[in-house]
Amino acid sequence: MSHLKEKGIRITETRKAVVSYIIDSDDHPSAEMIYKDLLPNYPNMSLATVYNNLKVLLEEGFVTELKRANDNTTYYDFMGHEHLNVICERCGKITDFMDVEIPSLKREAHEQTGYRITKELLTIYGICPECQALES
Ligand code: ZN
Repeated sequence: MSHLKEKGIRITETRKAVVSYIIDSDDHPSAEMIYKDLLPNYPNMSLATVYNNLKVLLEEGFVTELKRANDNTTYYDFMGHEHLNVICERCGKITDFMDVEIPSLKREAHEQTGYRITKELLTIYGICPECQALES
């Protein structure tokens, strides 16, 4: 939570709840899932509040948006650690993988273009092992 303060983002109770939810979630939740799960503890919260919070977190690069094939729902993922997502084009499953050279990728982008790099949104698509098994 401290890096939110560093960026000067106002931490409201609901924002804290939304962030904690995304950090703790093993899955990649949608706004509706977050809303439904938090509602018992935050009965005054609206779905619009969840969306507003996600928008701020997205703009600051704390979460990233994920789209699955054949699904209009947007899912969210915490970007506190450097990782990428690979999404199955068949079943829509989202899998994290780590230890990729994102810092050097950003450094390279800066060196080659002179841009000050603020965030990266990289998603890799493929066919997951389970769906591959179904193919054969
Ligand atoms: Zn699959």
